[in-house]
Amino acid sequence: MAVPKRKTSKARKRKRRAHLALATPATSVCDRCGADKVPHAICESCGHYRGRDVLALDA
Ligand SMILES: [Zn+2]
Repeated sequence: MAVPKRKTSKARKRKRRAHLALATPATSVCDRCGADKVPHAICESCGHYRGRDVLALDA
């Protein structure tokens, strides 16, 4: 059975994992209310998407 010749050092392991960080989620600004929102999705604060009301919100 194949066995690694050397133990992976802490430094080598950490260098390899330096590229594994999670990227920050993309955000965009709502055209109508200016709130931060998820791109290509309905605005959660005003229910607006691409120039029209999609979601009926109270108040
Ligand atoms: Zn909005």
